[in-house]
Amino acid sequence: MKREDCEALDRADKLATVRDRFDLPDGVIYLDGNSLGPLPYSVTKRLKEVVEGEWGIDLIRSWNHNDWINLPFVTGEKIAKLIGAAPGQVICTDSTSINLFKLLVTGLGLNAPKTVLLSSHTNFPTDLYMAQGLGGLLGDGRCQLRLVSDSEIESALTDDVAVLFLTHVDFRSGNLHNMQHLTNLAHEQGALVLWDLSHSVGAVPINLDEWQVDLAVGCGYKFLNGGPGAPAFLYVATRHLPQATQPLSGWMGHADPFAFAPEYRPASGIASFASGTPGILGMAALDVALGQWHDINVADVRAKSLSLCRLFYQLVSQEPMLEALCPVGTTLLDQRGSQVCFSHPDAYAIVQALVARQVIGDFRAPDIMRFGIAPLYVRHVDVFDAVRHLCEVVSSEEFKAPAFQNKTAVT
Ligand SMILES: *Cc1c(COP(=O)(O)O)cnc(C)c1O
Repeated sequence: MKREDCEALDRADKLATVRDRFDLPDGVIYLDGNSLGPLPYSVTKRLKEVVEGEWGIDLIRSWNHNDWINLPFVTGEKIAKLIGAAPGQVICTDSTSINLFKLLVTGLGLNAPKTVLLSSHTNFPTDLYMAQGLGGLLGDGRCQLRLVSDSEIESALTDDVAVLFLTHVDFRSGNLHNMQHLTNLAHEQGALVLWDLSHSVGAVPINLDEWQVDLAVGCGYKFLNGGPGAPAFLYVATRHLPQATQPLSGWMGHADPFAFAPEYRPASGIASFASGTPGILGMAALDVALGQWHDINVADVRAKSLSLCRLFYQLVSQEPMLEALCPVGTTLLDQRGSQVCFSHPDAYAIVQALVARQVIGDFRAPDIMRFGIAPLYVRHVDVFDAVRHLCEVVSSEEFKAPAFQNKTAVT
């Protein structure tokens, strides 16, 4: 594969013009959109309006006049379209960690008296930590965390499991769970499922309603490009909403918050999953970033992602200099999310040396270099150039420079 071939693939790309919607710095090859999506121009413009016009001039009237109060639902419905959810089941709120906590309790409540929460050791740590915190709060009698390896999930799904909670795409390996299959198996055992979509929403086709998923959460700042610390979202299937409760019963989830009644009375439907006041600046950014999807089809995004990932693996495997890089996770592309990762003993230093060359990927302990493939703005030529830089960094051993050895707080 030559660079000209990559240019030809980019010319034929249906999504080619979407890249122009992003304010990407010149010369940067950005392969970390699975950690923090880049800035869309529409967000810069919208935030200026919200700050200067809505907050600055309309002040508190904005909750009504500018419909701030409904933003969690408006934004939630835009996310719903990307995850195959009919209206009324998604709200944009809080962080993924908080939403996961809320929905684990929801699941335990819906499936009482079962007490087991089943997950994999490789699940994203915050998901495991939140479950551990919940276990400490409720005690063994009401919540038991069962963690197994990925290959043991099916055999550990026994009829005492209340909730199976997993992340659709593994953040380290990039492996994609078969959501439909595992959801079916869980239901056969009388368990509910709670899927974390953080690493798949906006990158992989998801059909929550069709697959009969019960509960889901996900992140707004990765493939959705909502900005650092953007609000997250949660999904509760319509069939569960009448019985579903959540523990963080704040006033924004009350049936009539401005009655200021002393007793909590939940709003009906998904609204009861709100807790406190939404952060409007962050949510307005995510909302407008989601607006970009009006003319984008997730199937096209997935097709381009597969083409880019295939190219990445192909170029690396054809390069004798990169022999020491070992693919992490499966190499079957249809069983992967939208990232490629390799292990190497000097992974951290190699990633730092790449960043110094403006090729931004990231490192995950202990020895993984990770490259996020976000098809809205990554081109085939970017993959080609990134692998060329990778080759130069490894063959010249420039990664051995002392400057690339020091670990920063955020990797
Ligand atoms: C990114 C990510 C999170 C992030 O949670 P925060 O509460 O936003 O820090 C949670 N779970 C998974 C699987 C993630 O990939």
